[in-house]
Amino acid sequence: MNAHPPAHLELHISGQNRPATDGARQEVHSPATGEVVGSVPRATSADLEAAVQAAHTAFQSWSALTSYEREKIIRRATAHVRTQADYLGRLMALEQGKPLAQSRSEIGGACDTLDYYAAEGVRVEGWTNPTEDRNYRSWVQYQPVGVCGLITPWNYPVSLLSWKLGPALAAGCTVVVKPTSVTPLSPLAFCAALTAGGLPAGVANAITGSGSVLGEALIQHRLVAKIAMTGSSDTGRRILGLAAAQLKKVSLELGGQCPAIVCADADLDLAARMIIYKGFRNCGQSCSSINRVYAHTSIHDALVERVRVLAEKMSIGDGLTDPQVDLGPMATADGVQTSLAHVHDAVSLGATLITGGAAPAGEAFARGHYFRPTVLTQCTPEMKVMRDETFGPVVGFQTFDTTESAIALANDTAYGLVAYVFTQDFNATVRLSEALEAGTVCVNHGAVNTNYGPYAGWKDSGYGLELSRRAVFEYLKPKHIKVALR
Ligand code: NAP
Repeated sequence: MNAHPPAHLELHISGQNRPATDGARQEVHSPATGEVVGSVPRATSADLEAAVQAAHTAFQSWSALTSYEREKIIRRATAHVRTQADYLGRLMALEQGKPLAQSRSEIGGACDTLDYYAAEGVRVEGWTNPTEDRNYRSWVQYQPVGVCGLITPWNYPVSLLSWKLGPALAAGCTVVVKPTSVTPLSPLAFCAALTAGGLPAGVANAITGSGSVLGEALIQHRLVAKIAMTGSSDTGRRILGLAAAQLKKVSLELGGQCPAIVCADADLDLAARMIIYKGFRNCGQSCSSINRVYAHTSIHDALVERVRVLAEKMSIGDGLTDPQVDLGPMATADGVQTSLAHVHDAVSLGATLITGGAAPAGEAFARGHYFRPTVLTQCTPEMKVMRDETFGPVVGFQTFDTTESAIALANDTAYGLVAYVFTQDFNATVRLSEALEAGTVCVNHGAVNTNYGPYAGWKDSGYGLELSRRAVFEYLKPKHIKVALR
């Protein structure tokens, strides 16, 4: 028996919640129990058309408001959404497995991001140019690109939506959101809550259905001017190809395989706590998770022991019944299989399993996608855990002797999202930060994502950027106006 009533939600189009035109639905399953915990409509092409048309119509009035007017409306809407944080957080915990305390706080964080961009919208500046003739006047201004298609993943279902929705709304764009089929409930309800809080009908529409059918149709719709997506690098490449055919603006936040370099002089307690936090939080299902640690030979064993002790102290359970638990289940059964496969691959190639490597024992975990925080040592670069994106709670350790070799190991990857450095030496901080091939470098902390800092994956990890004041320009187009006076 599931203790939580199933959530059967509807499409959110033009301010209305309604079923698909043909009534088709898709189920949402609990990662903690495998039970059906809700359902969403499987949108038809007619529903897609209605959502895009609603966004297109709303664009006329939304883009005509001043950014000061939009800021007021967005802040009112987020104030309302904050009152719904418990309901929205529960939906997220139900479908994603994230402990309730973390899910609730993701809703608040998403509202903060929308507010941040609402304030940023009033700071978009153009410029004037000196001209070659005294009778010319020349200025540049920015205008919203139009209807945006926002395609989002399941690991941070509302937070990663807000990274797109915030700058889009502030810039004067309207949107059609296509959340992942794994966790569609919380983003769908988030959009509906924004409308209930006063966002005009049609500004934020949300439709559900598969990425390969509905997602691709959204990308190719002629009225959709820009696509923003977070997901895997393979899907990102596919989306970029589809959008290129119509020369659409695109921003992509993609996969990661993030290294941490722990130098001989590092504060080992701090490094261990951050490896636990960034390696295992959300069961390692974060693009910025620490996947591999390069520890100086002189401190390797002491660091591993600290990490082992902390990993074994982490509490695991159903984050709905125990909101403060450290780790819930992984979101999908595939995630558990990939984690297992990466552990087996590493051990078969000579790694040592220090802790974890399997589901926790006991009846409470039998039906859910649980996996213990896992530490492997004596890893080598050819192992999957050091090379591929595990997207699970598995961290591999390898030693290094010189800073140059640590940099070479860390950069030997197709990804370039985030790199972590632990050192107390200023020169090492600067040299390592500058040499690491990643869009974000964190030195002595794990607080990766902040509204003010750009998040722009290098190499296979991204295209364009999200976050920071610059992200607003991903949703604007420049216009040069040149006037000849009489
Ligand atoms: P995914 O399978 O690539 O799916 C992401 C989104 O794309 C989902 O909404 C999916 O819809 C949709 N989609 C799939 N195929 C599509 C297609 N052909 N056309 C249009 N849309 C399509 O990724 P995921 O498994 O949900 O998320 C995990 C991945 O996201 C990891 O690789 C992770 O590193 C990455 N990620 C990156 C960041 C970052 O900021 N760099 C942050 C978080 C996660 P359906 O689910 O309905 O198929």
